[in-house]
Amino acid sequence: MINFRLSRNLFTTVVLPFRQLSKMQQQNVESKKGQPLKHIIKKLENFAPLAFAEKWDNVGLLIEPYQQKDAIKTIFLTNDLTVNVMEEAVDKNADLIISYHPPIFAPLKRISQNNWKAKIVSMCLAKGIAVYSPHTAWDCAPNGESLNCWLSKAFKLTDNAKPITINPETKTGPGLTWSYPSSLNYKLREVIEDIQNYIGLPVHVAMGVSHSLDSVIQNMACCAGSGASLLKEVSNTDVYITGEMSHHELLDAQHRNITVILCNHSNTERGFLKHFQPKLSNFLESNCEVIVSECDKDPLETFVRKH
Ligand SMILES: [Zn+2]
Repeated sequence: MINFRLSRNLFTTVVLPFRQLSKMQQQNVESKKGQPLKHIIKKLENFAPLAFAEKWDNVGLLIEPYQQKDAIKTIFLTNDLTVNVMEEAVDKNADLIISYHPPIFAPLKRISQNNWKAKIVSMCLAKGIAVYSPHTAWDCAPNGESLNCWLSKAFKLTDNAKPITINPETKTGPGLTWSYPSSLNYKLREVIEDIQNYIGLPVHVAMGVSHSLDSVIQNMACCAGSGASLLKEVSNTDVYITGEMSHHELLDAQHRNITVILCNHSNTERGFLKHFQPKLSNFLESNCEVIVSECDKDPLETFVRKH
């Protein structure tokens, strides 16, 4: 019998998150005057209008507590609002949670403690915490501020990036596609290294049938999250960066000679929060303490076999 041990990949840093605010953060919060919820929502919608979100989505203020706080002092950013992250938000005295993915999507028929999503809603209501979700409004944010624009900054810069599909009314859309001249000699191995360095994590690569690590890449596209449906709209790309695709979708892409780089769903999104944190603080003239969850993480972890 072969005896092997599994261990966390070296790329995965294991840091125990701080569940409470540090003394300095506590002092910061005490010195803030805060902002009314309505004012914060206005600023969030100025950044990424909810009208830009996909029609099927569930965005905006999803939980509005009965007893409103006069001023929101602590704003807590997360990609996913799991029970663990919710407990962290409570420990850190969050007044408002901004959860990129909507924690309520399918209608809830009852608010009980044996359904994790309902439990989160009940915790928010009991603690008077509001929840706002921007989701696809951030994917389509205007003025080069979309989540996909942030993701594309992993790679060599270009000034010809545009959304994969463009809504004629809003002039924005999901995904991003761009190109480089062949003279740039940007090789696939560098593209893979660049995204790994940007997100600080390993990736999976399904190489196009005629590609090698030395292939020169000219056309690229990306879609944060789950990108298979949007790839159908891309007419010409050598590389596609996304979070997740199924086995058969990957085979189809390979046979279109497209190399797909998979980062795991939320690893293509979560880094945007650190980028957005100082922006939001500026929008609110530093009147609120904006913090990013330390417990929020992709559910998938990479383990490598140890010989
Ligand atoms: Zn997503």
